[in-house]
Amino acid sequence: VIDVQNLHKYFGDNEVLKGIDFHIARGEVVCVIGPSGSGKSTLLRCVNLLEEPTSGTILVDGDEITDPDADVDALRARIGMVFQQFNLFPHMTVLRNLTVAQEKVLKRGKAESLEIARTNLEKVGLSDKADAYPAHLSGGQQQRVAIARALSMNPDMMLFDEPTSALDPELVGDVLAVMKDLAAEGMTMMVVTHEMSFAREVADKVVFMDGGVIVEEGLPADVLGNPQHERTQEFLARVL
Ligand code: ATP
Ligand code: MG
Repeated sequence: VIDVQNLHKYFGDNEVLKGIDFHIARGEVVCVIGPSGSGKSTLLRCVNLLEEPTSGTILVDGDEITDPDADVDALRARIGMVFQQFNLFPHMTVLRNLTVAQEKVLKRGKAESLEIARTNLEKVGLSDKADAYPAHLSGGQQQRVAIARALSMNPDMMLFDEPTSALDPELVGDVLAVMKDLAAEGMTMMVVTHEMSFAREVADKVVFMDGGVIVEEGLPADVLGNPQHERTQEFLARVL
């Protein structure tokens, strides 16, 4: 589904991604781990062109999205993104947060948008919050709304950038449970996370990044349980 080849990204003369190659197959869950500043967010943001790669190619379903003529809006509609900060529209109810882009971007009718929104709210366990405003929800609830909003666009894949890092510890589990359900349903997912137990349990593949390169990747049991590289070992010793 996603093929990244020799991806480089500079901010000014700071080379943040130094030749990244990786592949995600349909239905796969890939967790990206690594120290702060290693380029995890930049990599994720390149995949849906929130950042423009300096060089290299990214193929999504065989379409080269790094082609200057690529239809960026069509691409973004296929990729759901969930951030550390939930970025809900504060002046809209939960339900409206879930319908507005369906109507404006996908040109769906009101009734269909509402039905899809309600289905996805139920999926994240928040049917009873449809008419609430984001400010009246806990962080964990807001993040589940953000996931439901992304799902309402019927994406082919979901990108998550530290979706639980801003949450109080007792709220993390509900969000991870929703993500686990999604993975079990076969959603293709790329997840930047510090939740090593989630990575161990749910990921098909773990990618360890440091200094703008992929140092090591493989099965969670191998990368997390038996890391081959010193940098991976040092990182895991600090976080586990
Ligand atoms: P963290 O775990 O802290 O989120 P990260 O692995 O996601 O870190 P990135 O956010 O990808 O790291 O940042 C990688 C490097 O790129 C950092 O040195 C950062 O300062 C730099 N960087 C990121 N975004 C920009 C930007 N918009 N302009 C300039 N430099 C940037
Ligand atoms: Mg980041």
